[in-house]
Amino acid sequence: MNLYWGDLHNHCGISYGFGGLENALKAARSQLDFCAIIGHASWHDMPDRTQGLEYLVDFHTEGFAKLRGSWEHVRETVKSFHVPHEFVTFQGYEAHSSRYGDHHFLSPDDDLPLVGGSSTAAILEQLRKYRVIAVPHHVGYTPGYRGGNWESFDPEASPIVEVYSKHGSGLSDQSPYPYYHDMGPRDSRSSVYAALKRKLRFGFVGSTDHHAGYPGSYGDGRLAVLAESKTREAIWDAILARRTYAVTGDKIRCGFTLNGAPMGSEVQGAKRNFALEITASDQIDKVVVFKNVKPFKVFNGEDLTAPQPNSGTGSRKYKVKVECGWGNARNGYAWQGKAEIHAGNLLSVETCFRGRSILAPTPDLKDNPAMNALSNEISRQTDTTVEWTCTTFRNPTTLHPHTAGLILEVEGDLGTVVSVELNGGIISAAIGELLEGNRTTHLRAYNSEAFMIHRAVEERLYTLRETWIDDAVESECDVYHVEIRQMNGQCAWLSPIYALA
Ligand SMILES: [Zn+2]
Repeated sequence: MNLYWGDLHNHCGISYGFGGLENALKAARSQLDFCAIIGHASWHDMPDRTQGLEYLVDFHTEGFAKLRGSWEHVRETVKSFHVPHEFVTFQGYEAHSSRYGDHHFLSPDDDLPLVGGSSTAAILEQLRKYRVIAVPHHVGYTPGYRGGNWESFDPEASPIVEVYSKHGSGLSDQSPYPYYHDMGPRDSRSSVYAALKRKLRFGFVGSTDHHAGYPGSYGDGRLAVLAESKTREAIWDAILARRTYAVTGDKIRCGFTLNGAPMGSEVQGAKRNFALEITASDQIDKVVVFKNVKPFKVFNGEDLTAPQPNSGTGSRKYKVKVECGWGNARNGYAWQGKAEIHAGNLLSVETCFRGRSILAPTPDLKDNPAMNALSNEISRQTDTTVEWTCTTFRNPTTLHPHTAGLILEVEGDLGTVVSVELNGGIISAAIGELLEGNRTTHLRAYNSEAFMIHRAVEERLYTLRETWIDDAVESECDVYHVEIRQMNGQCAWLSPIYALA
């Protein structure tokens, strides 16, 4: 089985949203293995526009009509980007529902028709000739106010649930990343934990719900699937089997098994042998294994930091992130960068590229099909260098980044030097220095764009390998899931394994 990365829920100018469809697919292809493009299609119980909701109701109504008008073109374009083993696409669209909560409908069938209906089940009934699933998303909102509706949850129709997106985390009312969109706060009754307490069975996924045509936008939600190959059929099988997990952005590589069966499985038998493997993208802060939504095992990052002899002569692996942005550019600032490793090797590069940070239309925003053509891409990579271009924006608030980054996996020793040149600025530092702290520089005298090389992270601080046995049967169906948090705040939420008595 291989790990593949995707985004199954994102929006662009095909309905209410911004940016060209082809640019969105190209952005997805630059840092993901698969994606679905979602247009907004319907809202059967939309509030009345006379309650001061004229703008909101009108942009929804116009968006739905826009998708209907271009459905043939959307399907054909999504189909044309599908290249097995290179980049996989799925068809889909979204239906809002105040009562049943929002769902996006996904299908590997390119002839999926666009339909609406008075409930999630009514829409699925019209699509019964196709392979389709309905994915509940932003489930944490208030019940009846587009939050998840666990009373009507159908595990056959919904093998996966979107637990994190640009809206925030719907895991629980205590999870990091609370909801602060104008749709309101999250409510524990519609949280993912509430569903797990009911023993409902589904896999976790993250996706962006990004509204400016940038699937996979860093930090807004992505999912991993464990699949045999990068094909529609294999990824679809993985989704149906719940071999999925959610991440905020960083591609945290994880394996979680019970008696050899992967996450998402239902496993019979009293003897329970667990294995957990994590290769994170930054230093691990905390890993919590939950049993029936209660913390069962905790691994602290601090415990991974016990001093180890390091003579400086042995070759080791490190992760070093380069991040650029800041400044005041509201309409984008273009970067051209090069990183070079001296007396060491560049093993891999992970990109942290974002689209413009937009979650919903506002009256001042005008669509521009080119707004998601950001040139975020690696142009050249060797075993010691990487060159790239990217666009960043002024940070939306002092607590919300709009930067871009590359995570370099470096093999070397304390004397290995990382040199980064970005738009004329240069930082050069040895791994030995970067283990002690980061380095920053600015491009102009003040209010400037800036960039930094983050603190280097040793391999032992970003990896975890654990096994354990649990023979205590607590219920007919014991639910085990794992939550991982890195020092930089990026998280992974691993789909539950259901241990059946
Ligand atoms: Zn959406």
